[in-house]
Amino acid sequence: MIASVTRPTQAVVDLAAIQTNVATIQSHLKEGTKTFAVVKANAYGHGAVAVAKAVLSQVDGFCVSNLDEALELRRAGIESAILILGVIMPEQVPQAIAHDVTITIASLEWLDLAEKAAVDLSDLTCHIKVDTGMGRIGLTEAEDVNRLMAELVKGGARVTGLLTHFATADESDVTYFEQQLERFKRILADLDVCPPLIHTSNSATSLWHGETIFNAVRLGVAMYGLNPSGHHLSLPYPLKPALSLTSQLVHVKWIQAGQAIGYGGTYRAKQAEWLGTVPIGYADGWLRYLQGFQILVDGQPCEIVGRVSMDQIVIRLPKAYPIGSSVTLIGQDGDMVITATDVADYARTINYEVLCLISDRVPRVYL
Ligand SMILES: *Cc1c(COP(=O)(O)O)cnc(C)c1O
Repeated sequence: MIASVTRPTQAVVDLAAIQTNVATIQSHLKEGTKTFAVVKANAYGHGAVAVAKAVLSQVDGFCVSNLDEALELRRAGIESAILILGVIMPEQVPQAIAHDVTITIASLEWLDLAEKAAVDLSDLTCHIKVDTGMGRIGLTEAEDVNRLMAELVKGGARVTGLLTHFATADESDVTYFEQQLERFKRILADLDVCPPLIHTSNSATSLWHGETIFNAVRLGVAMYGLNPSGHHLSLPYPLKPALSLTSQLVHVKWIQAGQAIGYGGTYRAKQAEWLGTVPIGYADGWLRYLQGFQILVDGQPCEIVGRVSMDQIVIRLPKAYPIGSSVTLIGQDGDMVITATDVADYARTINYEVLCLISDRVPRVYL
């Protein structure tokens, strides 16, 4: 989808806020901890290349979810370490090697497939994923990890890291978290050889379980200034949300009581009132579920009335405003702030999803 740059709707990204967040988080980590900035999914909607360039000198490398995302960074001239967190097909190994991209290997079956496809593993750099309870990818037994590492080394690969991922690091009940940690420690203790990088920490683990960081963290949502738990756990120190979603009124009108608005006529004005139309809709990632949510005009909350259309929403205004008045859907206007977490709470989802859904139609503008 082409970015609609002639329309006033924009995602404004404060790169300095991301830099500050990274520095703040690092100042609370154990000395010597390595930082990998997670810039998968276009840096959670903030723009992968711009974010990676902004934090380049602050971090030890980047995490992405697949080879295409890794190559996007390489094409932009980024030479730092890049780790792919997901599984890549063995056939893609030559490309990973050619671009010096580290891959995650998560099963012995993967190695069998690589052998069957006669993939040359020499000069491959990889981390091994251990599944301690997340249940997506990874090996579960130390003996399998040992076998995999031995085979990889025999094939000429370098195993430079071992990782796992916690399922409940953002929850107040730590029972399951501790079970996962125990499993990971048991596997570590049974390793024949310990790779140099051992990492288990996403944002939530870095914020609330600092004692479990081995020697590297994978920082995602917190770097963008958001609380990984939503409103569940409070942040141990303040972070600044980096992304604002803004637009302008493109149409303003006075309507009479009883007039219906939008598809299905789901809203009927109870009295005569001012309404404004904003050029954003579900094609921009502004979910239909957000009917009734309040956004900001002139520091005042304005309810979205009627259904969210593909490209437009209608809001109730406290008074007449001129066309071109600024509208804040995420961010600050006057004393009022709408966070991605507020949007997520209303839409019964999480702030991660709200950010990732902002589509390519919305141009990213950098401060
Ligand atoms: C996405 C991801 C992260 C980052 O998670 P945040 O909660 O955004 O910090 C870390 N590790 C893995 C394996 C991931 O998939």
